[in-house]
Amino acid sequence: MYITLKDINKIYPNGYHAVHNFNLEIEKGEFIVFVGPSGCGKSTTLRMIAGLENISSGEFLINGVRANEKGPREREVAMVFQSYALYPQMTVFDNIAFGLTLQGVDEDVIEERVQKTAKILGLTDYLDRLPRALSGGQRQRVAIGRALIRKVGIFLMDEPLSNLDAKQRVTMRSEIAQIHRETGSTTIYVTHDQTEAMTLADRIVVMKDGYVQQVGTPYELYFKPANVFVAGFIGEPPMNFARSKVEKGCIRFGDQTVDLTAVRPDAAALEGKEVVFGFRPEAITLREQEKATRIDCQVELTEMLGDNTNVYITSGEQQAILKVDSHDTPETDAPLRFYIPAESIYLFDGETEMVL
Ligand code: ADP
Repeated sequence: MYITLKDINKIYPNGYHAVHNFNLEIEKGEFIVFVGPSGCGKSTTLRMIAGLENISSGEFLINGVRANEKGPREREVAMVFQSYALYPQMTVFDNIAFGLTLQGVDEDVIEERVQKTAKILGLTDYLDRLPRALSGGQRQRVAIGRALIRKVGIFLMDEPLSNLDAKQRVTMRSEIAQIHRETGSTTIYVTHDQTEAMTLADRIVVMKDGYVQQVGTPYELYFKPANVFVAGFIGEPPMNFARSKVEKGCIRFGDQTVDLTAVRPDAAALEGKEVVFGFRPEAITLREQEKATRIDCQVELTEMLGDNTNVYITSGEQQAILKVDSHDTPETDAPLRFYIPAESIYLFDGETEMVL
């Protein structure tokens, strides 16, 4: 294993326990994303990997060798931060070359490596410019170039797209994916944005309050969430939830009774249990299906987004969002019947919130 994090904890000097028993093994070349709401410990974990923050307990290994005590340079990591921190008086070329110049690398070698890096990043035509004559996206590419040129084993990025506007973010996101494909560098990337995580990652680490909630591929997190938190965090609009007790094989969804017996073979075993019932907005259908559960509701509001429509519905006090083909956009203030296929129904333990 290339990188191993074993029972890593971070307790800040003020006593705050920011990261609890973090465990992860990373293979060479993997693109790992740490995702979770602000303050959940993503940056702290990344900074411990970078060597910018000491590890309170646990073991950090690179290539099987303990690296807890190694400084940032010895760890062979390069980090890109959310602010680009370019030198304003230096050209793009000099900004990218800076680390190599400091190391006293030969000019010919610098020239060759800057040109190669610039080519990967599409900056060849901008090498003579000063940072102020670049767009936000181009500046961020220079910052990435500066890290990339060091040819280190581990590439760390902390919210690198957060200073860009929405359009630049989408472009830069695909460029980062492309750079990763071309360089094959092991990358650990921090973001609070689940779309960034889903589109970039080989594997995602979902964190909350300093604890890892689940580690998995985007596919696993979307289809097999371990708990209510992950189910609600991954996916946009988020999964719909309804709390209820299982009675006679049925649960309540607002003023509707949902029969679980046809869709869950384990319905009898859940009798009397408090559960959280979940389904994704996009998993429903408006046409009757076999092995699906039926729900009647009231349409409160619709949002036509082009190819599909978000439908805000209620049943009694219960609210939910459905995503339908825009050609099927229902009338507002009218009743609607929809179906949830058996495989798209999630049940979580009402107490532990773990998947059942
Ligand atoms: P994230 O990157 O997920 O937004 P951070 O890792 O930056 O979260 O922070 C995790 C928690 O640790 C937060 O509650 C934050 O306030 C706290 N924290 C961060 N740095 C320090 C520090 N130097 N001293 C004490 N607490 C800190």
